Amino acid sequence: MIRPGKHANRPLFQTPHEECGVFGVYGHSESANLTYLGLHALQHRGQEGAGICTSDGKQLHIEKAMGLVADIFSEKRLKRLPGYSAIGHNRYSTAGVSALKNVQPIVVNFSLGPMAIAHNGNLINAVSLRSALEEDGAIFQSNSDSEVIVHLTAHSKGGDIHQRIISALNQVKGAYSLLILLEKEMIAIRDPFGVRPLSLGEFDGAHVVASETCAFDLIGAKYIRDVEPGEMLVISERGTESFRAVNSTIKAHCVFELIYFARPDSNIFGGINVNQIRKALGRQLAREARIDADLVIPVPDSGMPAAIGYSEESELPFDLGLIRNHYVGRTFIEPKQSIRHFGVKIKLNPVRQLLAGKRLIAVDDSIVRGTTSKKIVKMLREGGSKEVHMRISSPRTIGPCFYGIDTPTRQELIASSHLNEEIRKYITADSLSYLSIEGLKRVLPSPEDFCYACFDNLYPISFPDEHLHQMELFSV
Ligand code: AMP
Repeated sequence: MIRPGKHANRPLFQTPHEECGVFGVYGHSESANLTYLGLHALQHRGQEGAGICTSDGKQLHIEKAMGLVADIFSEKRLKRLPGYSAIGHNRYSTAGVSALKNVQPIVVNFSLGPMAIAHNGNLINAVSLRSALEEDGAIFQSNSDSEVIVHLTAHSKGGDIHQRIISALNQVKGAYSLLILLEKEMIAIRDPFGVRPLSLGEFDGAHVVASETCAFDLIGAKYIRDVEPGEMLVISERGTESFRAVNSTIKAHCVFELIYFARPDSNIFGGINVNQIRKALGRQLAREARIDADLVIPVPDSGMPAAIGYSEESELPFDLGLIRNHYVGRTFIEPKQSIRHFGVKIKLNPVRQLLAGKRLIAVDDSIVRGTTSKKIVKMLREGGSKEVHMRISSPRTIGPCFYGIDTPTRQELIASSHLNEEIRKYITADSLSYLSIEGLKRVLPSPEDFCYACFDNLYPISFPDEHLHQMELFSV
């Protein structure tokens, strides 16, 4: 057992759960409105809160709140955001402290002027950096790890703002796709491993940057290219200037973005279409784990493309056996007693006429704790199906993510401590198969450029000391 690190008793930052979406625009009179639309398209990347910061060239303006983009930003509120450049952020809902102070962009004033930052990703050495900064007199306004980058920039000595940011970036470790707004510049940065996606586009003569290209589609922007891993792209009146900010010899794109997190209509990591990859994963799964059945059904919504792929490859019919209610808000209050315990039924309902007497293949993208699959199988049986075969279009999830995907601790990941047959029994399926890691790699272009830590426990960005207490879980 590895002994806990010295920070083990300190409250951690709210990690690891910095799944978020960022959007920015430089050089457009409608910058706030465009950012509002961009954030709306990226709403799946975070629903806890959202914010937009604009610059009118002389000062920054910020509006942020808890909730969904469309609820936060009224026309009146957007009018309070003048300027030709803007950055916005969607924050992911978490089990931890959820507070307005953690909603981004974070805006600060320091010796070189005001600066706003929006961050997608998770820093793995934020705790020790924060301790050192606090000892040096820094006062943090949030408990988001992103604020560390701001303080490191403010504390770095000498040089212009670009050199100071580069100095800060060379001290942080982990995943970051960042947007920084200054009075006269917007800066887009991606960590040297390229863990989270970040794309550059063009709209109406303006530059736009987004976590995913689905945001470009909504406003009608043209995709130009990805912000490169390790690149700092400064966008200003001078046009775009590219700096190599941080170096790495390897790439580590998050494979779970393709499997679950990104929207299927987005093209990420150098133009890989998410929907096509998910369908290909489903086809590969059918090749690996074929079984005779009457019907292939998806677990909505994220299992949809893989189920289509599975059905195509296996030549078994596809249909919608579960219907999802899309209007289930997180604030939904369960009524008491008589109609209690409806659990997953609030979100999904089986189509009984379709399922009755059928041998089903139910395709989902992943099993994390196993609770969803258990409820799905129960629901499908209650819906009248004769057999339920679960097929999972990703490998066994055995490792928590420290780079920004919201996964529970290792102990809670059912596959970290249970064999397939034990999981099958737990979810009460007639059979259960996952995609193999080899199968996953076969489907990906340039498979060597991805991080598979959640499936193989090989973490490409090494952990600093403070995470040893989390690493103790490795000895399980
Ligand atoms: P579980 O019930 O814990 O096994 O969760 C599995 C279900 O959650 C699957 O249907 C996935 O589509 C979905 N899922 C997987 N990863 C995540 C995540 N990071 N955040 C939210 N949902 C997820």
